[in-house]
Amino acid sequence: MNRTYGTAIVLAAGSGRRMGTKVHKQYLLLGGRPVLYYSLKAFQDSEVIDEIILVCGSGEEEYCRTEIADKYGLSKVSKVIPGGSERYESVWNGLQEAQEKGFVFIHDGARPLVDREMLLRAYDCVCENRACVAGMPAKDTIKIADERDFVKATPDRRSLWIVQTPQVFETKLVKNAYSLLMRETYITVTDDAMVVEQMLNFPIKMFQGSYENIKITTPEDLDVAEVFLKRKY
Ligand code: C5P
Repeated sequence: MNRTYGTAIVLAAGSGRRMGTKVHKQYLLLGGRPVLYYSLKAFQDSEVIDEIILVCGSGEEEYCRTEIADKYGLSKVSKVIPGGSERYESVWNGLQEAQEKGFVFIHDGARPLVDREMLLRAYDCVCENRACVAGMPAKDTIKIADERDFVKATPDRRSLWIVQTPQVFETKLVKNAYSLLMRETYITVTDDAMVVEQMLNFPIKMFQGSYENIKITTPEDLDVAEVFLKRKY
């Protein structure tokens, strides 16, 4: 297959306060291996990925390299670099290390259930649209509330998606969007697509992630992920 170069930026920095454990959520064990291992393994085994840039907490680089990348033979991990205090700063650090070619797949290391098929869907979608995001149609009704928790609006559920990662972009496009963002001070960023949407006004295409592609955030997520993983491996 004659395909475009693929760089994964896997994010594993941040404090994970909502988990309430001393160990960061991405290093907690799932089926005997760290959560982060599964995220990296999906990219390692993917035919659309050439290299993986792993962004971890400052001071955790050595642990990530020896205890995760080397230990499990994740040879596509080319760089292990420190992240920042906010997610977008970690992404920015990763982007600085990415080569100016092909596509960048930005992924939360805390989503261990990403898989090969999802990465293929992402690749097809980014080839066609240059910017795309994994997600799933919302199953629940979503309400927008005011600061006193009174409902302000109920958006039509048929147009709502729950957003996941990977978020995949042409490298030049996302680097450009993030360089513009870093000059701003007033924007709150919760995902990467938002940066491309707002900085460049560029259309973002949604593609199917999976309802299993959960983010490990609170302790019960680990139990759920364990069930999904057993089905997979
Ligand atoms: O905190 P949250 O659950 O939104 O984090 C999503 C992903 O971003 C996690 O994989 C986490 O490791 C990463 N992250 C990061 N740098 C931060 C905050 C979060 O790499 N400063």
